[in-house]
Amino acid sequence: MKEKFVRAIFPGSFDPITNGHLDVINRGMKLFDELIIAVGRSPIKNPLFTPEERVEMIAELVADMPGVSVEGFEGLTVEYAAKKKADVILRGLRSLTDVQYEFQLAMTNRAVAGIETIFVMTSEQYGFTTSSLIREVAVLGGDVSNLIPKNIYNRLQRKLSDGV
Ligand code: ADP
Repeated sequence: MKEKFVRAIFPGSFDPITNGHLDVINRGMKLFDELIIAVGRSPIKNPLFTPEERVEMIAELVADMPGVSVEGFEGLTVEYAAKKKADVILRGLRSLTDVQYEFQLAMTNRAVAGIETIFVMTSEQYGFTTSSLIREVAVLGGDVSNLIPKNIYNRLQRKLSDGV
Protein backbone atom coordinates (compact mmCIF):
# COMPACT_ATOMS: atom_id res chain seq x y z
CA MET A 1 0.00 0.00 0.00
CA LYS A 2 1.28 3.45 -0.89
CA GLU A 3 2.03 5.59 2.15
CA LYS A 4 0.25 8.92 2.40
CA PHE A 5 2.34 12.00 1.63
CA VAL A 6 1.69 14.66 4.23
CA ARG A 7 2.42 18.31 3.63
CA ALA A 8 2.16 20.75 6.55
CA ILE A 9 2.43 24.49 6.88
CA PHE A 10 3.78 26.14 10.03
CA PRO A 11 2.30 29.64 9.99
CA GLY A 12 3.37 32.48 12.27
CA SER A 13 4.86 35.93 12.49
CA PHE A 14 8.39 34.75 13.34
CA ASP A 15 9.56 38.27 14.26
CA PRO A 16 12.14 36.95 14.93
CA ILE A 17 12.27 33.17 14.69
CA THR A 18 13.34 31.74 18.07
CA ASN A 19 14.89 28.53 19.38
CA GLY A 20 11.35 27.58 20.40
CA HIS A 21 10.10 27.84 16.80
CA LEU A 22 13.13 25.87 15.66
CA ASP A 23 12.31 23.16 18.17
CA VAL A 24 8.79 22.92 16.69
CA ILE A 25 10.25 22.78 13.17
CA ASN A 26 12.64 19.96 14.12
CA ARG A 27 9.79 17.97 15.62
CA GLY A 28 7.54 18.72 12.62
CA MET A 29 10.22 17.52 10.21
CA LYS A 30 9.96 14.05 11.72
CA LEU A 31 6.19 13.96 11.37
CA PHE A 32 5.65 15.31 7.86
CA ASP A 33 7.06 14.69 4.42
CA GLU A 34 7.09 18.39 3.62
CA LEU A 35 6.99 21.36 5.95
CA ILE A 36 6.49 24.91 4.72
CA ILE A 37 7.22 27.67 7.21
CA ALA A 38 4.73 30.37 6.32
CA VAL A 39 5.61 33.90 7.38
CA GLY A 40 2.44 35.96 7.70
CA ARG A 41 2.31 39.55 6.52
CA SER A 42 -0.42 40.63 8.87
CA PRO A 43 0.66 43.60 10.99
CA ILE A 44 2.00 42.87 14.47
CA LYS A 45 2.67 45.13 17.45
CA ASN A 46 6.08 46.87 17.26
CA PRO A 47 7.53 44.83 14.39
CA LEU A 48 11.31 44.53 14.17
CA PHE A 49 12.00 42.80 10.86
CA THR A 50 10.06 43.12 7.62
CA PRO A 51 8.36 39.96 6.38
CA GLU A 52 10.97 39.78 3.60
CA GLU A 53 13.82 39.92 6.13
CA ARG A 54 12.16 37.21 8.23
CA VAL A 55 11.83 34.92 5.22
CA GLU A 56 15.46 35.54 4.26
CA MET A 57 16.73 34.77 7.77
CA ILE A 58 14.65 31.60 8.08
CA ALA A 59 15.80 30.45 4.62
CA GLU A 60 19.41 30.49 5.91
CA LEU A 61 18.40 28.37 8.88
CA VAL A 62 16.45 25.71 7.00
CA ALA A 63 18.71 25.45 3.94
CA ASP A 64 20.10 22.11 5.15
CA MET A 65 16.84 20.68 6.44
CA PRO A 66 15.37 18.17 4.00
CA GLY A 67 11.73 18.79 3.14
CA VAL A 68 11.63 22.16 4.90
CA SER A 69 11.10 25.46 3.08
CA VAL A 70 9.94 28.98 3.87
CA GLU A 71 7.62 31.45 2.14
CA GLY A 72 5.80 34.67 2.94
CA PHE A 73 2.03 34.81 2.63
CA GLU A 74 -0.72 37.36 2.81
CA GLY A 75 -4.30 37.01 3.97
CA LEU A 76 -5.98 34.04 5.53
CA THR A 77 -3.85 31.13 6.69
CA VAL A 78 -6.47 28.62 5.52
CA GLU A 79 -6.48 30.12 2.02
CA TYR A 80 -2.73 29.88 1.87
CA ALA A 81 -2.93 26.27 3.11
CA ALA A 82 -5.41 25.43 0.35
CA LYS A 83 -3.22 27.09 -2.27
CA LYS A 84 -0.25 25.00 -1.17
CA LYS A 85 -2.43 21.86 -0.99
CA ALA A 86 -1.36 21.43 2.63
CA ASP A 87 -2.97 18.62 4.62
CA VAL A 88 -2.42 20.10 8.05
CA ILE A 89 -1.44 23.22 9.95
CA LEU A 90 1.36 22.80 12.50
CA ARG A 91 1.39 24.96 15.61
CA GLY A 92 3.53 24.92 18.73
CA LEU A 93 2.34 24.93 22.32
CA ARG A 94 4.39 26.34 25.16
CA SER A 95 2.04 26.21 28.09
CA LEU A 96 -1.60 26.07 29.10
CA THR A 97 -1.96 29.78 28.34
CA ASP A 98 -1.36 29.05 24.64
CA VAL A 99 -4.03 26.37 24.60
CA GLN A 100 -7.12 28.57 24.82
CA TYR A 101 -6.18 30.82 21.91
CA GLU A 102 -4.78 28.00 19.80
CA PHE A 103 -7.89 25.90 20.44
CA GLN A 104 -10.13 28.71 19.17
CA LEU A 105 -7.93 29.26 16.14
CA ALA A 106 -7.82 25.55 15.29
CA MET A 107 -11.59 25.16 15.69
CA THR A 108 -12.21 28.22 13.52
CA ASN A 109 -9.85 27.02 10.81
CA ARG A 110 -11.50 23.61 10.83
CA ALA A 111 -14.98 25.13 10.72
CA VAL A 112 -14.23 27.49 7.83
CA ALA A 113 -11.90 25.29 5.77
CA GLY A 114 -12.04 21.75 7.14
CA ILE A 115 -8.30 21.74 7.81
CA GLU A 116 -6.84 20.01 10.86
CA THR A 117 -4.23 21.55 13.14
CA ILE A 118 -1.55 19.42 14.72
CA PHE A 119 0.15 20.69 17.86
CA VAL A 120 3.54 19.84 19.20
CA MET A 121 4.77 20.68 22.66
CA THR A 122 8.03 22.54 22.79
CA SER A 123 10.97 21.44 24.97
CA GLU A 124 10.61 22.68 28.53
CA GLN A 125 13.52 25.06 28.13
CA TYR A 126 11.67 27.08 25.47
CA GLY A 127 8.38 27.23 27.31
CA PHE A 128 8.87 30.91 28.16
CA THR A 129 10.34 32.07 24.84
CA THR A 130 8.21 34.50 22.86
CA SER A 131 9.18 36.63 19.89
CA SER A 132 7.44 39.68 21.34
CA LEU A 133 9.43 39.55 24.60
CA ILE A 134 12.64 38.96 22.69
CA ARG A 135 11.93 42.11 20.65
CA GLU A 136 11.27 44.14 23.79
CA VAL A 137 14.32 42.86 25.68
CA ALA A 138 16.63 43.25 22.69
CA VAL A 139 15.52 46.82 21.96
CA LEU A 140 16.27 47.70 25.58
CA GLY A 141 19.77 46.23 25.31
CA GLY A 142 19.20 42.85 27.00
CA ASP A 143 21.12 39.73 25.97
CA VAL A 144 18.85 37.37 24.05
CA SER A 145 21.64 35.26 22.54
CA ASN A 146 20.49 32.08 24.32
CA LEU A 147 16.99 32.33 22.95
CA ILE A 148 17.50 32.73 19.20
CA PRO A 149 19.71 31.06 16.59
CA LYS A 150 23.17 32.56 16.01
CA ASN A 151 22.48 34.01 12.53
CA ILE A 152 19.32 35.67 13.83
CA TYR A 153 21.21 37.12 16.79
CA ASN A 154 23.86 38.60 14.48
CA ARG A 155 21.19 40.08 12.27
CA LEU A 156 19.39 41.49 15.28
CA GLN A 157 22.57 43.16 16.52
CA ARG A 158 23.07 44.74 13.10
CA LYS A 159 19.47 45.91 12.95
CA LEU A 160 19.69 47.50 16.40
CA SER A 161 23.07 49.15 15.85
CA ASP A 162 22.69 50.53 12.32
CA GLY A 163 19.11 49.81 11.40
CA VAL A 164 19.87 47.22 8.67
P1 ADP B 1 1.63 34.06 15.82
O1 ADP B 1 1.67 35.55 15.79
O2 ADP B 1 0.84 33.44 14.71
O3 ADP B 1 1.33 33.45 17.17
P2 ADP B 1 4.35 33.34 16.31
O4 ADP B 1 5.50 33.53 15.39
O5 ADP B 1 4.38 34.05 17.61
O6 ADP B 1 3.10 33.69 15.45
O7 ADP B 1 4.17 31.79 16.62
C1 ADP B 1 3.95 30.82 15.63
C2 ADP B 1 3.67 29.48 16.28
O8 ADP B 1 4.80 29.07 17.04
C3 ADP B 1 2.51 29.46 17.26
O9 ADP B 1 1.90 28.19 17.20
C4 ADP B 1 3.17 29.63 18.59
O10 ADP B 1 2.38 29.08 19.64
C5 ADP B 1 4.42 28.82 18.37
N1 ADP B 1 5.50 29.23 19.24
C6 ADP B 1 5.97 30.47 19.47
N2 ADP B 1 7.00 30.45 20.36
C7 ADP B 1 7.16 29.15 20.68
C8 ADP B 1 8.02 28.45 21.58
N3 ADP B 1 8.91 29.10 22.33
N4 ADP B 1 7.90 27.12 21.67
C9 ADP B 1 6.97 26.47 20.93
N5 ADP B 1 6.11 27.05 20.10
C10 ADP B 1 6.20 28.37 19.97
